[in-house]
Amino acid sequence: MAFVITSPCIKERAADCMDVCPVDCISLGADQYYIDSDICIDCGACESACPVEAIYHEDEVPEGEIEYIQKAKSFFEMCD
Ligand code: SF4
Repeated sequence: MAFVITSPCIKERAADCMDVCPVDCISLGADQYYIDSDICIDCGACESACPVEAIYHEDEVPEGEIEYIQKAKSFFEMCD
């Protein structure tokens, strides 16, 4: 399980999440930040820090944002 960054990040990209992540598992992609689910330790710090409430636990992603779970997985697969 991991946290997931959803659509509000695309316009904001505030980067507050990167500043608070204790394991440095957040990376900037072409249009938004992404969390590497293989490294995330589920601490929740990024969720609280995000100014646009773009970050959810994987189990709590709103229905209209579900695609962002796969979008993050695809991003890190491309990086491998
Ligand atoms: Fe990093 Fe914690 Fe957010 Fe996971 S939940 S991305 S470990 S700040």
